[in-house]
Amino acid sequence: MVATARKPGQPGLAKTFDSLNPATDEPVATFAVFGEHEVGETVARAREAAAWWSALTWKERQTRLLAWKSYLTRYIMRLAEVVHAETGKPASDAQLEILLAIVHIDWAAKHARRVLSPQKVRSGLVAFNHASTVQYHPLGVVGVIGPWNYPVFTPIGSIAYALAAGNAVVFKPSEFTPATGSWLVSSFAAVVPEHPVLQLVTGFGETGSHLARSGVDKIAFTGSTRTAKKVMAACAENLTPMVAECGGKDAMLVAADADLDSAADAAVWGALSNAGQTCVGVERIYVAQSVYHTFIEKLADRVSGLRPGDDREADYGPMTMPGQLEVIEQHIADAMACGGRAVVGGLGSIRKPYVGPVILADVPETSAAVTEETFGPTMTVKPVADLAEGVRLANAGRYGLGGSVYSKNKKAAMRAARSLRTGMTSINSALTVLSVPSLPFGGVGESGFGRIHGADGLKEFSRAQSITRQRMKPMSNLTSFTRTDKDLNQIMTLVTLLHGRRYK
Ligand code: NAD
Repeated sequence: MVATARKPGQPGLAKTFDSLNPATDEPVATFAVFGEHEVGETVARAREAAAWWSALTWKERQTRLLAWKSYLTRYIMRLAEVVHAETGKPASDAQLEILLAIVHIDWAAKHARRVLSPQKVRSGLVAFNHASTVQYHPLGVVGVIGPWNYPVFTPIGSIAYALAAGNAVVFKPSEFTPATGSWLVSSFAAVVPEHPVLQLVTGFGETGSHLARSGVDKIAFTGSTRTAKKVMAACAENLTPMVAECGGKDAMLVAADADLDSAADAAVWGALSNAGQTCVGVERIYVAQSVYHTFIEKLADRVSGLRPGDDREADYGPMTMPGQLEVIEQHIADAMACGGRAVVGGLGSIRKPYVGPVILADVPETSAAVTEETFGPTMTVKPVADLAEGVRLANAGRYGLGGSVYSKNKKAAMRAARSLRTGMTSINSALTVLSVPSLPFGGVGESGFGRIHGADGLKEFSRAQSITRQRMKPMSNLTSFTRTDKDLNQIMTLVTLLHGRRYK
């Protein structure tokens, strides 16, 4: 496959960088560092491609997106190997991630027309003589800035929906996963060779910053809350709108009547898969006091057989970003220093580049291990009186991305789920929302704003346009200097009849 990133040594690009295998530190591939000029040129090419892409019919775009989906499906193993090499996650987990991305491309391609094409709406009393329609136009060029932890699923959540809405995309993958980004862009070019509708720019934060300042029509950013604030400041210069998909500190609530085996199983997967480097991973667990000890035993039992590694039998891989080891160490140390205890593992679990499973109990809610995103294979577990107390503690944090509730009582579980200050909550499972393509994905508070996936995701990359068309002359024209008192009195009488009733 031909990478569409410019090769090192090409004019205008002074620097290059290597992406490394986190397990072996061996280089995977070398990429150019795109400067301001190169980013500007790429966006200019994207503008031309956008004109072509947006002029295609819904069907023509759908056919091309479905061809891309089919290409990814056929070559899933090849892409999974690239993801494995760059992130260290087991190839089977990479496959699962790609599979979910495929489901989203399929949904976006098949639903864009229904969601975005012109729809008639009621005009209401004041404009009853007009026909009203709303339709959604593409924005033009969308800049997608991605993270490394799910280097296929996460950016595709923006890319697929932006493309399906008729935009061209310039994609800046994380500096830790440029080969994965390049593979994705090349695969699209293989099925849509006519114009560079999806392009790649590679580099570090500075390249992302150039993209945010380049005058694109929207930035879809996924990454840390700290970086999102910088990107937002850069976007502010041109009033470029932005979607911010940021960090999380998701909680699982376990009620006394919950299926404890299934909750423990989901907690362990949610906390440890991908070495805990999951924005919607399970980081905090609040368990009803009466089942607390039993639940901890079940958790400990399940993690006892799990281990990180680079071999095919390993349950999860190394930390992709070396700097994260320090954060994990600080959080475990802080938890222990303020009275927490390690039920499984502890500081000794950190063996660079791997971190063994860590279960921390009785950690005060003020500890960094509870308040900050750890992004490692760790979890804190705390007893609570009931679901209501779990909700209160879960909502006390600055983040509000996802969460889960375990209870056999449907009503109580729904009540708790609705009370959580999150963008997404799964009941009696964890992380399920992101696999339902018709459901919007995103957070509140320090977890960001805006939505990808589903109809909201398609509209996020569109411009709503409202149109009224006068169907017949009005009986009286209220918006004219020829208006008489009688005209106004007539409409006032009608409005008073309809809206003036006193509500108790
Ligand atoms: P990061 O913030 O370090 O980097 C994200 C991207 O931003 C990278 O491509 C990086 O090069 C770029 N960047 C860095 N500085 C920039 C700047 N000043 N201007 C523009 N771009 C800049 O995040 P990361 O370490 O790659 O990813 C991990 C974080 O992402 C975690 O906090 C995780 O929770 C979050 N995440 C969130 C979601 C979600 O959907 N909410 C999904 C995956 C990951």
